[in-house]
Amino acid sequence: MQLLDGKVLSQKIEKTVQIKTKTLRQSKGLVPGLAVILVGHDPASAAYVNMKKKACDRVGFYSVTHEMPADISQAAIENTITMMNNNPNINGILIQLPLPSQIDTTRILELVDPSKDVDGFHPYNVGRLTTGLDGFVPCTPLGVMALFSEYNIDLKGKNCVVVGASNIVGKPMAALLLNENATVEICHIFTDDLKKHTLNADILLVGVGVINLIKEDMVKDGVIIIDIGINRAQNGKLVGDVDFLNVSKKCSYITPVPGGVGPMTIAMLLSNTLKAAQTHASERE
Ligand code: NAD
Repeated sequence: MQLLDGKVLSQKIEKTVQIKTKTLRQSKGLVPGLAVILVGHDPASAAYVNMKKKACDRVGFYSVTHEMPADISQAAIENTITMMNNNPNINGILIQLPLPSQIDTTRILELVDPSKDVDGFHPYNVGRLTTGLDGFVPCTPLGVMALFSEYNIDLKGKNCVVVGASNIVGKPMAALLLNENATVEICHIFTDDLKKHTLNADILLVGVGVINLIKEDMVKDGVIIIDIGINRAQNGKLVGDVDFLNVSKKCSYITPVPGGVGPMTIAMLLSNTLKAAQTHASERE
């Protein structure tokens, strides 16, 4: 069994982003800028935003966080996004999800300029992903693809089973795998007999949010496992959706939690923001 080490790869990607950021600054006078909108006081969201801000600092980006109270109006968030869309110092806009229930999240995401949509949630970019065109791809599944590439894992013709079908994890993950000519199954809460499907997997990708959802008897020998889940166990430790101790014995490769997909997500946010800045710089020439 070999670990797919997202910590090491994310550091390598960060280093490259840092170098390219310096080049962009020296050659075009442009510093990549990321704006984050954080609504409410959810500690997990605040911690993620803080991690993203620190990562921006490490690679030399400009970043700004717009913190808003939980009872903020739709119009106030929309005004801030419009301001960021029009601000030439901002190349990427990130709305930390989830938003409070009074807010229409779809309308918010649709308002982000697709050329600044570094999370890849705008329907324009979703459409480009599903048709195999270049655009912005959600950071978590993009990070998984970078791990496959780093470890020379060929996807063509492989049976890939994605468990979890959210717009930010499962669906874009499935689209990326399909674009690489994998055979893709998507499972979710209403899937009947999950084990029947997971036993089929050459590569099993799980992003659900349920501790120990995937057990030893649900996978075949030699399987590659990507554990996207992040859960807080009773002892306070971070764990994934896979019973790592028992399942890893059967795997050829597996991502640890923490240190697998998590750090890759932030690395891809940096990489997407740099890509946006490079595009904006060339448009200004
Ligand atoms: P979500 O709640 O939006 O979606 C969960 C998905 O899992 C749904 O499609 C649901 O149908 C499915 N599901 C729920 N219970 C199931 C079950 N028993 N069997 C099969 N499918 C089931 O969640 P999300 O935002 O997609 O996040 C999923 C997990 O991934 C969470 O643990 C989250 O913390 C983690 N996550 C990790 C990263 C990262 O950087 N590693 C990024 C985003 C999300």
